[in-house]
Amino acid sequence: MTRIAFIGLGNMGAPMAANLRKAGYELVAFDLVPEAIQRLVDEGAAPARSAAEAVADATVVISMLPAGEQVRDLYLGTGRVLASVDIGTLLIDCSTIAAEDARAVATAAEARGLAFLDAPVSGGVAGAQAGTLTFIVGGETQPLETARPILEAMGRNVFHAGGHGAGQLGKMCNNMLLGILMIGTCEALNLAVAHQLNPAIISEIIRSSSGNNWVLQTYNPLPGLMENTPATRGYEGGFLSNLMTKDLALAMNAALASGTSTPLGSVASSLYAMHCANGNGGRDFSSIIQFLQGGRFD
Ligand code: NAD
Repeated sequence: MTRIAFIGLGNMGAPMAANLRKAGYELVAFDLVPEAIQRLVDEGAAPARSAAEAVADATVVISMLPAGEQVRDLYLGTGRVLASVDIGTLLIDCSTIAAEDARAVATAAEARGLAFLDAPVSGGVAGAQAGTLTFIVGGETQPLETARPILEAMGRNVFHAGGHGAGQLGKMCNNMLLGILMIGTCEALNLAVAHQLNPAIISEIIRSSSGNNWVLQTYNPLPGLMENTPATRGYEGGFLSNLMTKDLALAMNAALASGTSTPLGSVASSLYAMHCANGNGGRDFSSIIQFLQGGRFD
């Protein structure tokens, strides 16, 4: 029987873990926040008091943490995951972190005879809830095939990007483009509103034209134009601006390391850093439309 330890039950981890339960997997849940564990216990998971306890009898470990610092600490540091799992346990990290952090954990895991996959996701909280995430996986083929049915219980697409760290690099390319697309879409809508055009009609026009993109299709940054978007909920929940800022910084580091020219990524990175410095790190990343308005439409 596959017994999965799920660590990190936040905006993304909680619905992902709930989908594993719905698919019938035995689940042990751990988070630093007790209420987050309780929500999964209500879905039928067993609670754990520490990461080490969660993974002790697990055959698969899945982590979904904010950043590389927490992932390194979980597997290599105070979380003691590598030291606590049985040989043969499959380790899958779905957080978005630097490729070097993923490779460091993979190397330490392999030294213990354990398989590790970096498997960051795209699709947002709505995709996590609906079980339609895209997994971008780095690591060896054989553990990926073992992981595939588990990932398919949480997502619709599973891509093998390459060796260790390749999943993270693939995810970074996507999120750099997403940050640029969000800002570009906000600029277009602000321009339309400044000229008294109806933003609902302009959104529909662009969706049917060459400017069509994922932001306009599923994540309109203006309130009231789409049901169930963070914009319509006062920019609550969703994908936080500080996480987008982190992802853009990861992409900029990767660009620097490879000498790749990414001027628009660099501007997007600076704009998101300023938006967070203005106190918006805990709001959804579509709230950058207000920063770009400079208070003009308040
Ligand atoms: P979140 O902040 O909502 O959740 C993170 C959870 O991890 C929290 O519940 C926190 O208490 C827990 N945690 C932190 N350190 C821990 C530790 N040492 N042990 C156990 N639990 C710990 O973040 P999120 O939005 O769920 O994002 C998680 C990851 O997924 C990030 O790397 C993010 O970049 C990525 N991601 C997020 C989205 C999104 O739309 N939110 C989309 C794709 C990818």
